[in-house]
Amino acid sequence: MKLYNSLTRSVEKFEPWSPEKVSLYTCGPTVYNYAHIGNLRTYIHEDILEKTLEYLGYNVDRVMNITDVGHLESDADEGEDKMLLSALREKKTIWDVAEYYTEAFFKDCEKLNIKKPEVIAKATDYIEAYIEFIQGLEAKGYTYVANGNVYYDISKFEGYTKLSKLNLDTLKIAHREDVEEDTHKKNPQDFVLWFTKSKFEKQAMKWESPWGMGYPGWHIECSVIALKNLGERLDIHCGGVDHIPIHHTNEIAQTEGYTGKKWTKYWWHGEFLIDHSGKMSKSSGEFLTVSLLEAKGFDPLSYRYYVLNSHYRKQLAFSFESLEMAEKAYVKLKERTAPFTSIPTDDVQLSKKGLSLLEAFESFLRDDLNTANAITVLYEVLKSDALDQEKAFLIQKMDQVLSLDLLEAKESSATELSDEETAEIVKLIEERKTAKKEKNFARADAIRDELKEKGIELMDTPEGTTWKKQNQ
Ligand code: AMP
Ligand code: ZN
Repeated sequence: MKLYNSLTRSVEKFEPWSPEKVSLYTCGPTVYNYAHIGNLRTYIHEDILEKTLEYLGYNVDRVMNITDVGHLESDADEGEDKMLLSALREKKTIWDVAEYYTEAFFKDCEKLNIKKPEVIAKATDYIEAYIEFIQGLEAKGYTYVANGNVYYDISKFEGYTKLSKLNLDTLKIAHREDVEEDTHKKNPQDFVLWFTKSKFEKQAMKWESPWGMGYPGWHIECSVIALKNLGERLDIHCGGVDHIPIHHTNEIAQTEGYTGKKWTKYWWHGEFLIDHSGKMSKSSGEFLTVSLLEAKGFDPLSYRYYVLNSHYRKQLAFSFESLEMAEKAYVKLKERTAPFTSIPTDDVQLSKKGLSLLEAFESFLRDDLNTANAITVLYEVLKSDALDQEKAFLIQKMDQVLSLDLLEAKESSATELSDEETAEIVKLIEERKTAKKEKNFARADAIRDELKEKGIELMDTPEGTTWKKQNQ
C-alpha cells in the first residue's frame, strides 16, 4: 500500500510501526453545530482509508475525539469559544449542545455509511489526563504561565515547522497585520494548554487545576486522547488540510515534547470541498448539511458516490448540477447491480478474468486510495462476461470498501427472489418507464399492479424507480 505523507510531502510505502496493528487517529468534529458536507467529505475518505486497510488484512485500531470544549473561533486561540456561542444562540446548556450535535454527527455518518470508530473519546472525559500531561511538559521546560494561562513555548521544540514547512518570520508579519495579538505570548505561535484567565465570564465548563479553575486548550485533547488510547507511537493521523499549519503542528510539538520520541509515521490530510465562496465552512457561504441534501430529494449515498469519484488530495468544487449527475449515475449503477442482490456468493471460484479485475480494484486502492479508478473497475465487472455468481461476488467484495449499498436489497427486499425473478422485475420496471415515456399509462399501471401482486412495491423518485419486496 502506498500513501501520501504530508510530513515528507511524498507518496510512501506504508509500513506501520508494528505489523500486527495499525493505529489510526482521526480528529473528530467540534460539536457546536451540524457537520457540513465539506467536513463529511473528509470523514468519507477517512472511512475509505480504514476500510481499505482492513480489506488488505491490517488490524486497525481507530480512535476519534469529539471536541466539546476548548475550541475558540480561530484555531490559533483567538475569538470566542465556539461551544459557548452556540449555547447562547440556542439557549441551551453547553452539555446539551454537545450531546445534540454529537448525535446528529453520527446520524449523518450512518446515512453516508461511514463506520463508527471503535473508540469515540469526548474531550471533557480526559481533564485529569490533560493536567498530568501539561505537568509533564512543564517539568521538561516547554511551558510558561502568563496572565494566568499556561502556554506552550514553541521556541523550545526543535522542528516546530516540520509538518507545515512554514517560515515563522513570514507568519509573524501576517499575524500582526491580520488579528489582534495576544500580548502575553512569547512567540506569536505559542498556544494555550490551559486557560484560566478566560475572557468568557459565562464559561460553564471549568475544572480545578494546579493553575486555577479553567479549561484545556483545543490542541491538547488530540495529543492526550491519542496517547491514552493508542500509545506513544501512532501509525496514521488524519484530518483536513486546514489542520496542518496550527492544530497538527501543535499536536506534534506537544506529543513529541512530552515523550521525547517520534510520534506519527504518516500524516494523512483530506483536501477541501469548496463552493463559490471558497472553502466550505460553517460560517461563510451556503451551509450545506446531509439533511438539506435529503430535503432536496438526494439520497445521501449519492453524495458518497460523488465524493468517491474525486481523489482525497484534490479540492472538489461542489455544485448541485454535479451532484445531480452523480445521483443519476449512482441510481443507474444500483439498477445494474440490483439483479445480483439475491445471488449467493459463497463458494465462488474466481476465473482468471475475475481475479484480474479484483487485483485491478485493489491496486487502485493501494495506490494512495484512488477511489475514482477503483469505481471504474466495478463498471468493468458489470460489463464483463463473467458468470453472474462471480459478478455478485466481486460487487460484494468491492462494496466492502466503497460502502455504496450496491447489494443492499439482499437482506431487505430480495431474500427469497431468484436471479431470474430479480431480472424480471428490473425488466418490467424498464418496460414501465418506456410505457410512461410513450404516455401508455394503462400499461404502466398494469405493470405496477402486476408487480404489486407479487409483493413488489415500486417507488418513483425524481431520479428513477426503485423497488422493495414488501413483508408478507
Ligand atoms: P471541525 O468540526 O471544524 O473541527 O472539522 C471537522 C473535519 O472537517 C476536520 O478534519 C476538518 O479539517 C475538516 N474540514 C473542514 N472544512 C472542510 C471542507 N470545506 N472540506 C473538507 N474538509 C473540511
Ligand atoms: Zn485533532
